[in-house]
Amino acid sequence: MLSFKEAQEIIIKHAHSFGEELVDINDAYGRVLAEPIKADRDYPPFNRASMDGYAIKKSDWDNGLREFVIAETIYAGKISNHVIKSGECYKIMTGAAVPVQADAVIRREDVSEAENSVTVLQLELKSFQNIAKQGEDIKKDFLVIEQSVRCTAPVIGLLASLGKSKVSVKKLPTVSIITTGDEVVDVTDKVDPVQIRNSNAYTIKALLKQWNIIPSSASHVPDDISQLLSAVTAAKKNDIIILSGGVSAGDADYVPTVLKESGAVEIFHKVAIKPGKPFWFGKFANGVVVFALPGNPLSCMVTFKLFIELFLSCSFGLDKPLQLSLPFNGTRIKRSSLDEFFPVKISGDPSSVEPIHFNGSGDITALIMADAIARHPADITELSEGMLIDLYRL
Ligand code: AMP
Ligand code: MG
Repeated sequence: MLSFKEAQEIIIKHAHSFGEELVDINDAYGRVLAEPIKADRDYPPFNRASMDGYAIKKSDWDNGLREFVIAETIYAGKISNHVIKSGECYKIMTGAAVPVQADAVIRREDVSEAENSVTVLQLELKSFQNIAKQGEDIKKDFLVIEQSVRCTAPVIGLLASLGKSKVSVKKLPTVSIITTGDEVVDVTDKVDPVQIRNSNAYTIKALLKQWNIIPSSASHVPDDISQLLSAVTAAKKNDIIILSGGVSAGDADYVPTVLKESGAVEIFHKVAIKPGKPFWFGKFANGVVVFALPGNPLSCMVTFKLFIELFLSCSFGLDKPLQLSLPFNGTRIKRSSLDEFFPVKISGDPSSVEPIHFNGSGDITALIMADAIARHPADITELSEGMLIDLYRL
């Protein structure tokens, strides 16, 4: 059986781009940039007053002048049309362009104001004080962002600053979700005493939404070979098929058989992890990728995080999802020879992780209070207090 790391390496090898498309800046949040972003001009684009105050010639100050006649008031967005002479100043607002003749701005609070003049009260003055110089942040044509960066709020703000109203981003894959199980009913349906509600369809949709992916279909199929076969066949027009349930060793676990019958090639079935051991990964000849997740809600969530998220991240050209390590605040004994994953809470200063009690992989509340899923490595029997452990943030 493949180890967790081996399984991840195989998934990474099968990751591939889904193309690129141009989107409006309003739709770019959460998407991954597919083009490098360069500065269209210097930033700041002009010598910008960073305080409300008075702009003077530094040479006047050096010559001992402390009183200045206000020659003009300059507001943000306005161009000055007066060239100051010795002994004159501009009254200037934050964000306004400082004319080239001036090379220092004195804050309003550091002068005494009369009707048409000011007297400077401060004792020291530096060249370009309170002026953000043209190009001091970035020079025109500077490569501000290389491609394959996720559009977070600061990135969106930067795109707007640089005049990018449309931006090329990585295309999202089309995804079809198929949940399985005779006992599984939708949240809107009446539920019999021995039936359970289909939480996985909603969990998977929510996990995909974090990548801006809205599945093209989400169907539920009973444990029936022919119905499963037609569902899988119909889903083959998508880039990715995600199945839930029916993938382990029970008599009604038809998913691996059906996938094979429908032409999917099994790349691996089963990984040495707990929960999530029955996970199945494969591909159709036309490139459609198939992830079949175990039906237990915790297994479904963990295998999505460990494998599908990794696949999406790498397909978009991003780094592997961030994996943190923090000290363990507790002890944990492992009886299996597998890599075990368990929910934890991150807290304290400095931060450490505490395990959250849960009742096995069918426990629907296991992850509600969790900040991350922690890994108990296959080759370590006991996690002890203070040990650094790997975390996958939820
Ligand atoms: P399976 O992987 O089909 O053997 O199912 C394992 C467990 O997960 C069983 O208790 C199922 O009832 C439960 N299960 C399967 N599918 C879902 C689903 N879509 N939502 C919630 N629980 C499920
Ligand atoms: Mg089942």
